[in-house]
Amino acid sequence: MVHCLYYDDPYLRQFDARVLRRLEVDGRPAVILDRTAFYPEGGGQPCDLGELNGVAVVDVQPSDEGPRHILAGELAADDVHGRIDWARRFDHMQQHTGQHILSQAFIQTLGAETVSFHLGAEASTIDLDRTDMSAEALAAAEALANRVVSENRPVRCRFVDAGELAALPLRRPPAVEGAVRVVEIAGFDCSACGGTHLRSTAEVGLIKITRAERHRGGTTRVTFLCGGRALADYERKHRLLQALVGHFTTGEEELLEAAQRLAEEVREARRALRVAQEALVAAEAGRLYAEAEEEDGLRIVKVLFRAEEWEAGAVKALATQLAGRPGCVALLGWAGEKPQLTFARAPDVSADMGKLMRLACQRIGGRGGGRPDWAQGGAPGDAPLAEALAAAEEALRKRET
Ligand SMILES: [Zn+2]
Repeated sequence: MVHCLYYDDPYLRQFDARVLRRLEVDGRPAVILDRTAFYPEGGGQPCDLGELNGVAVVDVQPSDEGPRHILAGELAADDVHGRIDWARRFDHMQQHTGQHILSQAFIQTLGAETVSFHLGAEASTIDLDRTDMSAEALAAAEALANRVVSENRPVRCRFVDAGELAALPLRRPPAVEGAVRVVEIAGFDCSACGGTHLRSTAEVGLIKITRAERHRGGTTRVTFLCGGRALADYERKHRLLQALVGHFTTGEEELLEAAQRLAEEVREARRALRVAQEALVAAEAGRLYAEAEEEDGLRIVKVLFRAEEWEAGAVKALATQLAGRPGCVALLGWAGEKPQLTFARAPDVSADMGKLMRLACQRIGGRGGGRPDWAQGGAPGDAPLAEALAAAEEALRKRET
């Protein structure tokens, strides 16, 4: 029977042990030791990492024989000195002990039971058997949990037999039979758990709920941070807030208002820009129409726009404007990254813009077509649009369409 030192003393960081067995796990060397402080993955808690005689322990998995220490390389000696990654372990102990406190706090404030727990690399989650959780309810559970942290209550872990177990006010019935490991937070919570925990609630430092969302099966998934993780999150958010305060040159309290005001100004500026663009298009249409000479009842407006001067959308709006004027045919080109042609005509003109567009596009290796009164085409980046427009005008004058 392997002696699991993390049960006797979860604060043990180094230990001596003997190799009981060597094996291979997924092509990597692994050992089973007669005693170990390495916690294997289980109960929602990730495994410890560290080293044995300087060889990195990259994973620790439970097995019937005891924890399997999976190694980065071969371990030659039978007598080993092990060292666990203490920062990682302490972080896990903070998250895990915080979870016990938070789970009991949800029972006491909301009557919500924890149905599962996951300790993640960045945040941890518990799933609660309720979906009707308001922000106030979450805040009440968080407040109670932090009160228990500040009360510095002792946390005691021990194995109890079935007889004693029956008398304990366990939060949930144990998942295993026989002797069960029980974690008691003095005067607050009692639950069966095989993980590693702190010796007092004060060491959790801080419990912060960061998110709550509906989850499958009528549960709510609550994401939380404890201790060092909560502090790091506070630090990150504080920095972000300071950057925003600097950006908006305002106080923290006025930040939201400043952001809302900016969004409103952007909306207003866009609206004003749209009005101005519409006026510009209308004025340009009037000018171009007036300048176009009338010939056989036709006024042909042929213009090639540069992308720096006009947006492609404005050119189309201009074509629409021109098509509203008697006898007008608009042959417009836009020489942007993706060159475009837009042809449009007034209702009193008989020429077919779709045919005219196909003809123009053929000349320059583009593609296009459309209805008799409106057509569009596109061409390769270096296409001679002026040539296409000239061909279209010539065909139009010769009444070829
Ligand atoms: Zn636990």
